[in-house]
Amino acid sequence: MKAVRLFGVNDVRVVDVDRPVPKPGEVLVKVAAAGVCHSDLHLIEHGRRAQKQPFTLGHENAGWVEQLGDGVDGFEIGEPVMVFGPWGCGHCAPCQASFENYCEHQSESPVLGGGLGTDGGMAEYMIVPHPRLLVKLGDLAPGEVAPLSDAALTPYHAIKRSAAKLTPSSFVFVIGIGGLGHMAVQILKKLYAATVIAGDIADDKLDVARHHGADHVVRTDRPDAAEQIRALTGSKKCAVVLDFVGAAPTLALGAATVGLNGDFTVVGLAGGHIDYAAGVVPWGASLCVPYWGSRVELMEVLDMKRKGIIDIDYTTYPLERANDVYQMLREGRINGRAVLVPSH
Ligand SMILES: [Zn+2]
Ligand SMILES: [Zn+2]
Repeated sequence: MKAVRLFGVNDVRVVDVDRPVPKPGEVLVKVAAAGVCHSDLHLIEHGRRAQKQPFTLGHENAGWVEQLGDGVDGFEIGEPVMVFGPWGCGHCAPCQASFENYCEHQSESPVLGGGLGTDGGMAEYMIVPHPRLLVKLGDLAPGEVAPLSDAALTPYHAIKRSAAKLTPSSFVFVIGIGGLGHMAVQILKKLYAATVIAGDIADDKLDVARHHGADHVVRTDRPDAAEQIRALTGSKKCAVVLDFVGAAPTLALGAATVGLNGDFTVVGLAGGHIDYAAGVVPWGASLCVPYWGSRVELMEVLDMKRKGIIDIDYTTYPLERANDVYQMLREGRINGRAVLVPSH
């Protein structure tokens, strides 16, 4: 079968590999679609210590159950499933609470999930090591929802920590309207009453934010971006800032626009730094770098999709075009999400 594999730094190849066979306790999933993510670029360009290469990329996966390893039941062959991305030990307290994204043993394992240190879903088939990592899709088509497993789950988890602050009187500032940011705007507008300000350096991305209901948009590359936001919010500034970029300028802008006792949540992995100290952010403000989301939150994301609360803007490409798509992502030429689809 065809697979998109990472061989080393900046070395991604589409190659033929054997179709895997599930061992006892595992499930073989026939992949319908795999989302293409900025964090893949991070992995491709920088690598990660201790990860054994090559492995197949793709951590936003959905498909159909193809084969059950010995001892696995509860699934029909052909049943549509989403693969929950962050794979923890399955036994510690956070894992038991379905927060495998915060597994206590994460630092001990070079494998963070399928496509993140071991074979993922940019292939015709993938092995899922335990059935607990599958969420039944029911009436949802796997090809239409695969990227929600990260692009919606991650912003949903990031937003939920600030739920109590998203009141009708407060402002929330979303920086970066890409795959995750455009989902964040929808979740904020549909689930909460706070006024949403969207920021990006590209006008077409701001149009996307407006389309999804953002109340105000701001070009974050303008030198007066922080003043523009303060003109909207007044002196209380933003109760919540969600930075889906994480570069030095967006971190500085977030620090300048978050309010007293506010939440500054940095999701983007662009590698920026901020001095976190008294005087840099207002008194009481908390800085958080959340990671992905829980399995129960993924179930809630799928229910949001079912209820029409969220929709994902995506374009499909054949698996063979993986390198072109990564290049487009690098150049900021993807609107919403790119999704790779294997030809079965
Ligand atoms: Zn991702
Ligand atoms: Zn664990």
